[in-house]
Amino acid sequence: MGLLSRAGAQLSTRAEDADVIVVNTCSFIESAQQESVNTILEMAAHKVSGRAQKLVVAGCLVERYRDEIRKRIPEVDAVVGTGELQSILAATGVAPVGSASNSPFVVLPSRPEGEARSSRGRFSREQWEGAVADLPNYLYDDETPRVLATPKHTAYIKIAEGCDHPCTFCIIPQLRGKFRSRRFESVVAEAERLARNGVREITLIGQDTTCYGEDLGLKDGLPLLLEKLAHVEGLRWIRFLYAYPNKITGKLLDTIAAHEKICSYMDVPLQHASASVLKRMKRGGGADVFLRSIAKMRRAVPELTLRTSFIVGFPGETEKEFEELCHFVREAQFDWMGTFSYSDQEGADAYGLDGKLSPREIERRRKHLMEIQRRISRKKKKALVGRELDLLLEGTSEETDLLLEARTAMHAPEIDGKVFVNDFPPELTPESGKFYRCQITEAHDYDLVAKII
Ligand code: SF4
Repeated sequence: MGLLSRAGAQLSTRAEDADVIVVNTCSFIESAQQESVNTILEMAAHKVSGRAQKLVVAGCLVERYRDEIRKRIPEVDAVVGTGELQSILAATGVAPVGSASNSPFVVLPSRPEGEARSSRGRFSREQWEGAVADLPNYLYDDETPRVLATPKHTAYIKIAEGCDHPCTFCIIPQLRGKFRSRRFESVVAEAERLARNGVREITLIGQDTTCYGEDLGLKDGLPLLLEKLAHVEGLRWIRFLYAYPNKITGKLLDTIAAHEKICSYMDVPLQHASASVLKRMKRGGGADVFLRSIAKMRRAVPELTLRTSFIVGFPGETEKEFEELCHFVREAQFDWMGTFSYSDQEGADAYGLDGKLSPREIERRRKHLMEIQRRISRKKKKALVGRELDLLLEGTSEETDLLLEARTAMHAPEIDGKVFVNDFPPELTPESGKFYRCQITEAHDYDLVAKII
């Protein structure tokens, strides 16, 4: 969006107003692929009977099915993979080929793990008909123009791209390429610019944020980055998502605990708790190791909000292994938890495993696990009633104009529950993007109700 906007395009979120429609796609599980294809087809209709002259498909679906998209959906005029962001200008016809000014296509250093996994075929796309052989190697930097798609007070910053891990259910490394970090100074410069423009909350993302800097020879890259960002004027909340379980160091925890601006919040996708399933997932760990690690996190960071996610129905998951997971969830008492149904992906190692479960059984297990968590969440949310907390006001609730919606530091943008605000002092006109002291007055399974005090 930044490149297009700088080149003179006017951006619109209404497809019916657009001369060129760009569909940015996802491809990491089957339902995401299906949703992407449905959207492309829906947008193709605007070319047939609407104003649109061009349809461009971008993103991960292109990395996976480049040729097939063009072959099967003739309305598509151009495709742009995740490593070819700058070709969006030529693809949309906004600027001629070769007009992009900044060129991030440099050969980047990689981690020894990435090289070793590469030699074992982790990133191979040979089985994927139509995918190009070259892995994406793109990284944006602080000079790359950006248009925020989030409300003006909050922004994501991608600090690294790609992933070197061997998880057998996942094709993200083949889609996104080897792990590579953005330069430290580039991330800081971007955060400073965003803060100058009114951003108050920053969420650091990447497929694996806890490896940040390893490819640049940085030790403790993420803690160092967080510490630096904690001194950026104007920022109030800083958090990072997607920590890899065995990469959570004492230094990282101490850094979170030491700075008020760094939210006491950790998102650690554990994927499972049974050691045998985790071994088949090529992730390692197990319930005991994870419980010890969680205890260490909670000791180091008082009032830590802990989020995780699991996959249920991995090939060969027995009733006993699933029970281990349920037991672990009861013990660990997460603040937030997501459960995903295993999705079989061609090109992932798990695709060749025996013991696939039926969709019905997978759904039964997903619901069962979420029911356990619902009760834990309800209890945890009830314990917050009466507490006074700072709250970032997001605006009018999507559910009703009568309520305002907000988040506390315990709520990451978009993924966690909500705080509804139903009361504020009569002399106050609450403003979106501002922080207010509030008191929690009611609790539901996942959501809270608060009044501004
Ligand atoms: S760490 Fe995450 S992105 Fe990387 S392979 Fe595993 S699941 Fe996929």
